Amino acid sequence: MLTAAFESVGSSASYILRDDVRAFETAIADKLAVKFAIGVNSGTDALFLALKALGIGAGDEVITVAHTFVATLAAIVHCGAKPVLIDIGQDFNLVPDALRAAITPATKAIIPVHMNGRCCDMPAILAIADQYGVPVLEDAAQALGAHIDGRYAGSFGRLGAFSLHPMKNLHCYGDGGLVTTNDPLLAEKIRMLRNHGQNENKDLMAFGFNSRLDNLQAALLNVNLRYFADDIDRRRQIAVRYHAGLSDCQAVRLPVSSQPTGYFDVFSAYPILCRDRDGLIRHLQSRHIECFVHWPQPLHLNPHLQLAPVSLPMTEQVAREVLSLPIHPFLDDAQCDYVIASVREFAGGR
Ligand SMILES: *Cc1c(COP(=O)(O)O)cnc(C)c1O
Repeated sequence: MLTAAFESVGSSASYILRDDVRAFETAIADKLAVKFAIGVNSGTDALFLALKALGIGAGDEVITVAHTFVATLAAIVHCGAKPVLIDIGQDFNLVPDALRAAITPATKAIIPVHMNGRCCDMPAILAIADQYGVPVLEDAAQALGAHIDGRYAGSFGRLGAFSLHPMKNLHCYGDGGLVTTNDPLLAEKIRMLRNHGQNENKDLMAFGFNSRLDNLQAALLNVNLRYFADDIDRRRQIAVRYHAGLSDCQAVRLPVSSQPTGYFDVFSAYPILCRDRDGLIRHLQSRHIECFVHWPQPLHLNPHLQLAPVSLPMTEQVAREVLSLPIHPFLDDAQCDYVIASVREFAGGR
């Protein structure tokens, strides 16, 4: 089916902003119950254009977390604004009380990052944002399909930013991204900014950027979208299996369980904490199990980024202790059990 999509786009020479992009945008907007979804060329640009559309610029402060991919901060910095970094909680997500404490008159946006496919505490975050009249841009790069009681990541704030990079749950075959919003004016601005500042009539309204989602990528995404719900189901089954197999293992701490709350996690990763993280990784490697650490150095401690000094104890602890166990739709039960047994073997009864 991917080949058919490829041939159809090639034979009709439909490369830029054609029907496949529109079909993909409509499918995502329907799925997330938002009015607008706008395809762009990466999750990074989704964040950057969303901040631009909000008018973020020099002198503005944007509150977010240091426990994120560097793109979240880069988008803020490239707008000329200052990232104000706050700590995360047990769920790897922004702590609402820390958010409230970080708000100043210069705060012009808040970027909650839905890490590892789990929604931030959006009711609490929106209450604070509304109280201070600050717009929320969700970094939902890792959380397409995650929801709280049926309300989807990317549909809570003024804007949502998604990545379609090959490491994300729904991915294309290269770079891609998406902005969501219910606001028609913001949607129009994003469409204009992604396409050199041209509006729908091709009138040049401002200087913009070249940040379109390729029609070919959209055609391939429309195929992948058919398998997306099943993929998420499988990820969730694996998470349940890991929980069951490891919850009594004292040597590791598992992700916060979504039961019995209304959180629906999509497990773009399955991060665990372990005091002897590097020892556990070496052990799993010796058993031919690949693990991923995101991220060994917290962004606020990277001297090259020249961020304002701040102490973020939980972010720093996670950077020391976190590793992600394998999780993807093609992992079978026997492989999960092998991972569980190998972790337990390292723990040696602890
Ligand atoms: C992947 C990711 C991004 C950036 O997305 P790209 O498509 O790679 O540009 C931004 N934020 C988070 C949290 C991510 O995981």
